[in-house]
Amino acid sequence: MLLFSTVAAVFEQIEKKSGRLEMTGILAELFQKTGKEEIDKLVYIMQGILMPPYKGVDLGMGERFAVEAISATSGYSVYEVDRHYRKSGDLGDTAEELLKKRKQTALFTSEMDVGYVYNVMMKIALAGGSGSQDLKIKYLTELLNNASPMEARFLVRYVLARLRIGVGDPTILDALSVAHTGDKSFRNDLERAYNVCADMGLVAKLFYEDPVNIKKFRVGPFKPLMPALAERLSTPDAIIEKIGKCAVEMKYDGFRLQCHKKGKTVEIYSRKLEKMTHMFPDVVEEIRRLKYEEIIFEGEALAYNRKKNRFFSFQQTMHRRRKHGIAEASLEFPLYVFVFDVLYIDGKDMTGTAYRERRKLVKKFRGKIVKAAESKLVSKAEKLDGIFRDALSRGLEGIMAKDLDSPYNAGKRKFAWIKLKKSYGKAVDTVDCVIVGYYLGHGQRAEFEFGGVLAAVYNSDNGKLQTIAKVATGFSEEEMMELREMLEEIRAKKPPSNLEYKIEVDFWVEPKYVIEVAFDEITVSSMHTAGKGYALRFPRIVKIRNDKTIKEITNCHEIEDMFNLQRS
Ligand code: ATP
Repeated sequence: MLLFSTVAAVFEQIEKKSGRLEMTGILAELFQKTGKEEIDKLVYIMQGILMPPYKGVDLGMGERFAVEAISATSGYSVYEVDRHYRKSGDLGDTAEELLKKRKQTALFTSEMDVGYVYNVMMKIALAGGSGSQDLKIKYLTELLNNASPMEARFLVRYVLARLRIGVGDPTILDALSVAHTGDKSFRNDLERAYNVCADMGLVAKLFYEDPVNIKKFRVGPFKPLMPALAERLSTPDAIIEKIGKCAVEMKYDGFRLQCHKKGKTVEIYSRKLEKMTHMFPDVVEEIRRLKYEEIIFEGEALAYNRKKNRFFSFQQTMHRRRKHGIAEASLEFPLYVFVFDVLYIDGKDMTGTAYRERRKLVKKFRGKIVKAAESKLVSKAEKLDGIFRDALSRGLEGIMAKDLDSPYNAGKRKFAWIKLKKSYGKAVDTVDCVIVGYYLGHGQRAEFEFGGVLAAVYNSDNGKLQTIAKVATGFSEEEMMELREMLEEIRAKKPPSNLEYKIEVDFWVEPKYVIEVAFDEITVSSMHTAGKGYALRFPRIVKIRNDKTIKEITNCHEIEDMFNLQRS
């Protein structure tokens, strides 16, 4: 049995390292000590989650409850815990410090193993209804009573859903393979399995039971796949040069849905792979009537304004992603789902099949709501340009060019799909950033005004968030104030632990909201930390991307590619 104290010691070691190779070594050693009945739980803990997102079991205890549990364990009053937290800025650190100076010792303490910790965390997450708050505090107190101060630091961060030890999924995959074979020979198989089920715990468990499981891992209903992603190029010529004759599809600007059907059961997942089935009864009904016994397909959902005979805007379409008033919203904003890929059908995994074959299945969608995305075969740049212009004139966002011979690359950004988008003003393109802090306005009423946000991208080489722009325009005043209110709710006393920055903000926030930012050009500046100091010139907010997790923000490598692209 793996003790949680061993895990906490490894987390502490990792926090101090930044090289991926070193981290992989440390993790592989830990994985070797882990049994097959606990590897899944350890992996989830490392990812800072309890289960993959689509299972809908979230951590995220309220801070107040955690403060009470720390108080009960340490013997310090709630007031004293709060005071310490105000100074430390991290409730995990506060728990550690106060437990070191514990005013009372627990009567019985016992060492905790990973399975035990995980199960108690699960009980905390699942407790609901009346009396659940007291129960949550009781469970956490129980854990803290048995914990060393260092264990307490990580337990508290984990239960608050703020455990960011800086180990990315690629490092976990490397380490699993190294732990088993001493090298990365299983890396690709593990990665593929993870990309087609988005459940690292499941992959690790199957791998520990028998590595052959991973080689023959199959796509299947209700195991959502990580979405395939598109590269970008800036001209029709460049696209034809890159992939030659290709299929050009309309690029619809709505939200991505992954739809699964087996028998009469239908589930719909968002791009972040959260289950959203209940939001779309109209879509579910139509999918249920499809003649296939089993199918997984992807499409882009857009609301259509029947009176004006055109699509609603992205903002209006987003009204359909709601928890309440679903029936009303489906009348006001009826959806179309434009199917652009089929990943699995009646027992057959289609992800390894060429696009041209998958497209034959896509073409069969002719429902009232669920219909095939428009697609045309093109071999000349002029023709591609014509379709692109036509798409823009119809109010669409641009086109997607697809390589006819490519498989479906779950979880990967490849030139199998190339996007060509309308530029925003003079903008080259847009990037997705996470907001890490914000500014107050200037002038007399400064404290009531909003001065913009500090935005960061992700560097997969070292697992850090790195700043790329201070963004203060793009939104109307009203939208800005709304954003400010959202950010006030998630103010943090310290910058995110994995942020590299050179400029200060008025307030740090938890890295939670993803924004799409348009810009004129990428430059290099001494103010920002993204890659070689990349910065966005004239950045402006296009929209808040509620459909993206912070794992999906733009990677520094993409920024570098865009920088090189613009120079060429
Ligand atoms: P990315 O998905 O590349 O991270 P993004 O989410 O910001 O970026 P875009 O860059 O605009 O989106 O392009 C990809 C998205 O376009 C897909 O995730 C999908 O939701 C949408 N899309 C619209 N039409 C299509 C289509 N015909 N084929 C594939 N994707 C499409």
